[in-house]
Amino acid sequence: MHAQLLQAARQPLVAAELPVPRPAAEQVLLRVRACAVCRTDLHIVDGELAHPKLPLVPGHEIVGTVVETGAAVDRFGVGDRVGVPWLGWTCGVCDYCRSGRENLCDRARFTGYQIDGGYAEFAVADQRYCFALDPAYGDVAAAPLLCAGLIGYRTLRLAGDGERIGIYGFGAAAHIVAQVARFQGRRVFAFTRPDDTAAQEFARSLGAVWAGGSTEAPPEPLDAALIFAPVGALVPAALAATRKGGAVVCGGIHMSDIPAFPYSLLWEERVVRSVANLTRRDAEEFLALAPQAGVSTATVPYPLAAANEALADLRNGALQGAAVLVP
Ligand SMILES: [Zn+2]
Ligand SMILES: [Zn+2]
Repeated sequence: MHAQLLQAARQPLVAAELPVPRPAAEQVLLRVRACAVCRTDLHIVDGELAHPKLPLVPGHEIVGTVVETGAAVDRFGVGDRVGVPWLGWTCGVCDYCRSGRENLCDRARFTGYQIDGGYAEFAVADQRYCFALDPAYGDVAAAPLLCAGLIGYRTLRLAGDGERIGIYGFGAAAHIVAQVARFQGRRVFAFTRPDDTAAQEFARSLGAVWAGGSTEAPPEPLDAALIFAPVGALVPAALAATRKGGAVVCGGIHMSDIPAFPYSLLWEERVVRSVANLTRRDAEEFLALAPQAGVSTATVPYPLAAANEALADLRNGALQGAAVLVP
């Protein structure tokens, strides 16, 4: 099968011919229909996340059709369409797994990081971490739901019930979470790179009541802020824009260092927290909510062979919505 392979960090992916993987007992073999490109892929390729499996097939927003099932598979059959997210396996027995926090499992394994992912024509995935997808979404449209959507949803959920939600970095996750927030009756304030008027326009088109540069103050204080851009300097900026008791939630897996800031920005019970990974409950909830909320995804398809171009366009901020590889 054709695959795009990471052989070493900080090097471009290379086109490779690999054997089609064989499904283990709990695994399904998928013909990959689409795989979205996530900023986490960029962090892995750029060496900002340590110790990936090497060589590695990246990609953890996989839409595929089941073509073969392992001996113990009982949730899906040949021909079913499923989605595969970042969370690829958990132990089920550690404190975190037993307390509903499998996203923090001590032994978790992640798709496209420790497990080969979807930048290929075929992939295997553990059936317990695969999800049915609403038929309202085509293969390309569904792909960004599987990380941008899921992590975005968890980030919004952990921000609390506030009405005024600031979103810093208006890329793939933000464009989905803005639609969910609006459906929930909240108001979205979008913060982009200061001169990125195209992204600000994109945010307004998705229902943001205000859009401006990340150095600007919003017209009213935020109840909570979500940060999707991997820029630590946004943490004090977001705290300064957030009212007493509000939360600043960092949705990414990697961020540049957070600069020192005066305690007065945190004072008055403001909270800074991160979001790590996802649980299967997040996936079930969000994938049911997305069609109800009428969430649509903005996608830019690329052929599988153009994976490096898709990554470069994401790195350069040249995308509106999500890049999606199509084998
Ligand atoms: Zn565990
Ligand atoms: Zn991701």
